[in-house]
Amino acid sequence: MKIAILSRNRRLYSTRRLIEAGKARGHEMHVVDILDCYMDITSAHPAIWHKGDKLENFDAVIPRIGASVTHYGLAVIRQFEMMGVYCMTESVALGRSRDKLRALQLLSRKGVGMPKTSFAFRVHNTKELIKLVGGAPLVVKLCEGTQGRGVILAETVKAAESVIEAFRELRAEFLVQEFIKEAGGSDIRCLVIGNKVVASMQRTAQEGEFRSNLHRGGSAQLVKLTPTERRTAVKAAQTMGLQLAGVDLLRSSRGPLVMEVNSSPGLEGIEGATHKDVASAIIAFIEENAKPHQNRTRGGKG
Ligand code: ADP
Ligand code: MG
Repeated sequence: MKIAILSRNRRLYSTRRLIEAGKARGHEMHVVDILDCYMDITSAHPAIWHKGDKLENFDAVIPRIGASVTHYGLAVIRQFEMMGVYCMTESVALGRSRDKLRALQLLSRKGVGMPKTSFAFRVHNTKELIKLVGGAPLVVKLCEGTQGRGVILAETVKAAESVIEAFRELRAEFLVQEFIKEAGGSDIRCLVIGNKVVASMQRTAQEGEFRSNLHRGGSAQLVKLTPTERRTAVKAAQTMGLQLAGVDLLRSSRGPLVMEVNSSPGLEGIEGATHKDVASAIIAFIEENAKPHQNRTRGGKG
């Protein structure tokens, strides 16, 4: 098959591994930088060019779109969808998962467990927002943050009010969330492909930190998931419409709670911790599922 990886840098671990795995399984692998793509959206024959070459005869696309270029990335994926090329991550699914508010609302509609979360626009709702999540300690999160940046633990109501008011002043969008203390600074990353969790790891924050992101010095260990945790992770990915997802769970006293669903999960941490060949599993899934004009959304409704 002829497979395109939408990635800005072929030297990134995940991109490298996908190229390697694809080649090993006999496929023709191309790396396409979305910012070097331009599109013909007016004709009856939608087309994409990349650095002067028309992108033709691709069987599948694996989008790995960075958070800072989501908007343009979505347009490129939609164009592939209109051309009937199979996309491992569809535009609508990516759009849902990149908007934390929308993602949490979808999960709540499907009855997926999540930490109590509140959100408002006006500043005079501050006290109500805090009350809705059960008071302090609580977590305040920027809607657009990644890698733990913009996630703040407010230990007291006073601290929470100050943080909320400061974010408001900056006109930033944020969520207020119940702090899951019993998670003990750990969370669980479940790598979901199709309807299976193919690898999972527990990430634990370093001493004195509550955020377990590996980018913040968290460490990863193997973990055995309960059947409920597996089901929850798969349901969260399916709710987003993602066939490839990194679902982050917190272990709480009322069962697994979904914190977020990542649409471009990194492979380095999870392959390192589990010694599983996730890249090959992704390619194998594509071999089984990629057919032309199979995207459920075809660049259509959201
Ligand atoms: P990001 O998208 O920046 O990774 P997350 O929502 O995943 O933001 O939060 C980063 C980390 O902070 C999580 O991995 C988790 O360890 C911790 N955390 C986030 N929300 C909560 C919460 N409600 N209760 C306890 N810990 C949390
Ligand atoms: Mg996270």
